[in-house]
Amino acid sequence: MTPAPYAGPTVFGYETDLPLRRVAQISVHTSPLATPGGKDAGGMNVYIRELACNLARLGLPVDVFTRRTSPDQPEVTSPCEGVNVVAITAGPPAPLDKNALFPLLPEFATEMALYSLREGVRYDAVHAHYWLSGWAAHLVRRYWDTPFVQMFHTTAHMKNAVADAVHQESGLRGGTERRLLSLADSLIAANPDERADLVWRMGAANDKVCTIPPGIDLDLFRPLDKAACRARLGLHPSDPVVLFCGRVDPIKGIETLVEATALLNRGDGAAPTVLFVGGDVDGDGEPTGALTDVARQATTLGVRDRFRFVGSQPQDDLPRFYSAADVVAVPSRYESFGLVAVEALACGVPVVASRVGGLKFTVEEGTSGLLVPWGDAAALAEMLRRVLDDDGLRRELAAAARPSVERFAWTSVAASVRHVYQRLANGHKRNLCGEEQIFREGA
Ligand code: UDP
Repeated sequence: MTPAPYAGPTVFGYETDLPLRRVAQISVHTSPLATPGGKDAGGMNVYIRELACNLARLGLPVDVFTRRTSPDQPEVTSPCEGVNVVAITAGPPAPLDKNALFPLLPEFATEMALYSLREGVRYDAVHAHYWLSGWAAHLVRRYWDTPFVQMFHTTAHMKNAVADAVHQESGLRGGTERRLLSLADSLIAANPDERADLVWRMGAANDKVCTIPPGIDLDLFRPLDKAACRARLGLHPSDPVVLFCGRVDPIKGIETLVEATALLNRGDGAAPTVLFVGGDVDGDGEPTGALTDVARQATTLGVRDRFRFVGSQPQDDLPRFYSAADVVAVPSRYESFGLVAVEALACGVPVVASRVGGLKFTVEEGTSGLLVPWGDAAALAEMLRRVLDDDGLRRELAAAARPSVERFAWTSVAASVRHVYQRLANGHKRNLCGEEQIFREGA
């Protein structure tokens, strides 16, 4: 294959790359400062914050633009040194449904451009998250003329494949995502499956797509003493405990976990407690909002007493929850990456997950966890039972768990993303991805 012609700057005819000075990230509909575990805040918020802070640690300052949702929000907040989260006023300064945001994107783009003009900053690359931000990145090119990288996190195409009729994504989203495939200068897929979907089913140019997973904080997510964690959480030292952690959203397949719990309750052996992190509980610890549907299903199936709902938890406290569990269940219909599974593995806890999306690549079947078809409550119950009942198997999976995810350390992930920015900033259109292979050969 002939190498792509060099399109960047040269010194005496020799290729040379200029240092990156500053990059922008765009996250219109949800802020990296939002607390994860609620309706619209989860892995993407964690990813944007951590990526920005880790890029800054590598010496690259980052401004993250997000829509202002309160009049009191300061214009600039800094979650870590070198990162500014900039609140952009577009539409009313109040929370809005994400489906109402598309018409506000021209105003959002103009306000971003005005901010950069006022502050006297310019960006060498833009990284857009989710389809709405991709469109904002396209619109802001009127002012900035900066290359942009698009990351969808999920696409309407992938979501609709597993969603029921009432939760189908709009034609506007699907159509905009297809346009972004050609408008963006590069696309980052979080796993090899997503890459295949973007290229083969949606028609993205193969050489535009880089497969770079999110990273995780291996210092935060590490094995803790199980007995001490259980004591802190008021759990019995030897009861079987299954943990669920995540947003309360149809994509998470929570109904399958409730059904599986009912099956486990009827089987031989002790019925496990399901420690449920995510959603909202009131002052008395009773589920509210979307979590009431989960509690109702559990009551209907006669397993309400098996569930312990604790609501969303600050991420810094999650290692204690993971470490207290015997196994973490991830019954999702789809996961672009599935941070919760990787965080659990980093804490040395086996995972039983659906065989979908990123989970197929992060959970090593039979080594660090077990995989089941999504929506199959009987299979989920059977695999949870195996891990809970077989002490030898559980110990083996637990021992392999942390080493299997050390490849997702932020330092290498952030360096891979920075490489893409660097290539784009220097005018390259090809060979954007770098050599790093974070996903294992054949995985
Ligand atoms: N999370 C959290 N507190 C909670 C529930 C979740 O901090 O109560 C975090 C969790 O640590 C993970 C993220 O939210 O980093 C969820 O990411 P995941 O990829 O599993 O799911 P998504 O929300 O992206 O669908």
